[in-house]
Amino acid sequence: MKEFKAESKRLLDLMINSIYTNKEIFLRELISNCSDAIDKRRFLSLTDAKAAADFCINISVDKENRLLTIEDNGCGMTDEDMEKNLSTIAKSGTLEFKKEHKNDENLIGQFGVGFYSAFMVADSVNVISRAYGSDKAFKWTSAGAEGYEIEESARADAGTTVILHIKENDDDCRYDEFLEAYKISELIKKYSDYIRYPIKTDVPTTKKKQDGDGYETVTEHKTVNSMTPIWKKPKGKVKKEEYDDFYTATFHDYMPPLKQIFASLEGSVSYNTLLFIPSKAPIEYTSKDYKKGLKLYSDGVMIMEKCDELIPDYLGFIRGLVDSGDLSLNISREILQHNRQLKTIAVSLEKKIISEFKKMLASEKERVLYEKMFDEFGVSLKMGAYENFGEKKDTIKDILIFRSSDGHKYTTLSEYVKRMKDGQEFIYYACGDDFEQIEKMPQCEAVLEKGYEVLLLSDRIDEFVIKVLESYDSKKFKSVADKDALPVSEEKEKEVTEKSEQYKELLGAVKDALKGKVKEVRLTSRLKNHAACIAADGYVSLEMEKVLKDMPTGGPAAKAEKVLELNPDHAVFSRLCDAKDDKQKLSDYATVLYDTAMLSEGMEIEDAAAFAALVQKLI
Ligand code: ADP
Repeated sequence: MKEFKAESKRLLDLMINSIYTNKEIFLRELISNCSDAIDKRRFLSLTDAKAAADFCINISVDKENRLLTIEDNGCGMTDEDMEKNLSTIAKSGTLEFKKEHKNDENLIGQFGVGFYSAFMVADSVNVISRAYGSDKAFKWTSAGAEGYEIEESARADAGTTVILHIKENDDDCRYDEFLEAYKISELIKKYSDYIRYPIKTDVPTTKKKQDGDGYETVTEHKTVNSMTPIWKKPKGKVKKEEYDDFYTATFHDYMPPLKQIFASLEGSVSYNTLLFIPSKAPIEYTSKDYKKGLKLYSDGVMIMEKCDELIPDYLGFIRGLVDSGDLSLNISREILQHNRQLKTIAVSLEKKIISEFKKMLASEKERVLYEKMFDEFGVSLKMGAYENFGEKKDTIKDILIFRSSDGHKYTTLSEYVKRMKDGQEFIYYACGDDFEQIEKMPQCEAVLEKGYEVLLLSDRIDEFVIKVLESYDSKKFKSVADKDALPVSEEKEKEVTEKSEQYKELLGAVKDALKGKVKEVRLTSRLKNHAACIAADGYVSLEMEKVLKDMPTGGPAAKAEKVLELNPDHAVFSRLCDAKDDKQKLSDYATVLYDTAMLSEGMEIEDAAAFAALVQKLI
């Protein structure tokens, strides 16, 4: 017997001891594997007539021996395939990542339960398979987490037979149900109705007796599913639960989608599409293991599992399928990449999705769904606006939402602009880690006091996006930290210029005391309650400095050119004036002012212990 790899073993353990309430989904998982396998063989049959067969999935029960058998005539597996596909988890690494995860139900879902879900209802599983084109068959056997065996076996034709030995009933579950013909038909209808190949099983039916005297129950082996792909059924005829079931089964998600999007196009290229916005990002979403793409069908026949070209990166979280009768079936993947029809579909899909997003934003009912989606995937959309020097910014700017000082609610840029006050020149924004802290920043307070709304940016990418967008509806974006964020009266400006001249020497001395930490020390008229603030001259803002510092660039990260701005009307400023002849005192004051101003901006100070000691000394 061979042992499972540690991760597979853990997942198996989880399945075997699962308290997952929805155990019945194992059947849909196994059936969808059969369907995938038949898809593969059918695809081969397009260029190899011998691969063609009367494709179908057969399910049978043997109550006495507690066996449930699921059989297909798909592509089958070699012994190597069995080793690779049934004995190790494909998404390696994810289980490690989720070690701390206590919630069974979530964990099972995160994996896309797959083949191992058989162990939720079976205490042992046999898989007999013969790969198409091979004359050898193999049998994979496992009775759980201890391990598995693969040995030579026999099978008349290519395909796979999965035999489950169903568990005995216990307090949690009546496993006997899975040996009832009526239950099996019910599950097929419920979860696998849209599968495009006939799923045949024994169906008990009540019929009039041959001799016409009364009724009898006869068992017929017949096709149970309707076989119409769900996306080809009239929209009004399909219930939301059916779409949800289709989504969870097809895309291995444990949560129903937030929303589905339909589209079809008739024209030079025609297609149908059924897209889903997931409720939650899969755990591998932000890692390089995540592969975007939509399933591609040619008139109901799947030709590609994940067609990357159909969807731009920034919409890579969307799942779904495209079915087009205009695509040639035996097109090779290389040719597909340069396929013009495919490009046409991709362009039209992107437009459709964006317009659907805009509709959601405008609809009272769907706005909350959009905001939920943005919480999960907003960063992707923002990346889309930022990438390639903002190539797509005009397409994306209207589907971006930002939190605002107006109750911390989400707002679109167009909504912000509509609310702008008379005389307000800019769209204001401020960056930081949390909203309350941002609003307390001296410069932000000044703008808020004017009654202007401020966008509160707490995502690291936000400011980069704003810089790329530059303006919206000809209103420029302005950081509250910019020195010209608020217009200053001529009178005030004159006063500051005069004072700056008057205190030139003092300002120079403060700058020297800060030993190169700031590029300049200047007076400002924009502060009211605060004695000092830090501004940044040049392209790199304080917030960007923080982000860049954490990026693994190798070399030293770009720094903001800092300016210490002092409020000449503040009591602290007169203390500074008093200290101008005491070099040590001036240096102490300058340092405390600088450090406290940095803290108000949410920046780190260089030497916290020295700062604490200095404050205590001054007290
Ligand atoms: P998934 O279907 O998400 O890839 P599963 O755990 O359900 O994950 O299955 C693992 C793999 O085992 C499949 O990708 C497929 O290669 C193989 N497999 C499972 N069932 C069959 C089958 N009936 N016929 C052929 N291959 C199968």
